[in-house]
Amino acid sequence: MSRHERRASLARYRQEAGNALTTYLVDPDQPLDLPILQNAARSWLDALPHRMRSCIACSGLMWERQRVGWLLLSVPAVPKPPAASVCGVCIECADLPLQALEQAATTALQTAVPGGRLAPMDPRR
Ligand SMILES: [Zn+2]
Repeated sequence: MSRHERRASLARYRQEAGNALTTYLVDPDQPLDLPILQNAARSWLDALPHRMRSCIACSGLMWERQRVGWLLLSVPAVPKPPAASVCGVCIECADLPLQALEQAATTALQTAVPGGRLAPMDPRR
């Protein structure tokens, strides 16, 4: 299954204390419903030639859009999130099993919500 056939993954990253992030694992070319996500994804991608990013799975560098396999977007799980954060997964890691990507995402999100874990979410809600 290619990454273009795979649906965006939506998950909730939650800490026992109650802090939670809503996370989205999306194709960089996929249009996003929420303007806050769309804007965060676009500015992350637009900054690429000048700001190299490292892959959350292998730490490999991404210096152009073609090197980006997935974007991991996260927003605080509140009615009007003030900001979204963006992490990238490189093209080599794009075909990793979802479980491996979630493991990398969990590690990457520790700085935002220490001790949190990813849990699946019903994407219709
Ligand atoms: Zn990678």
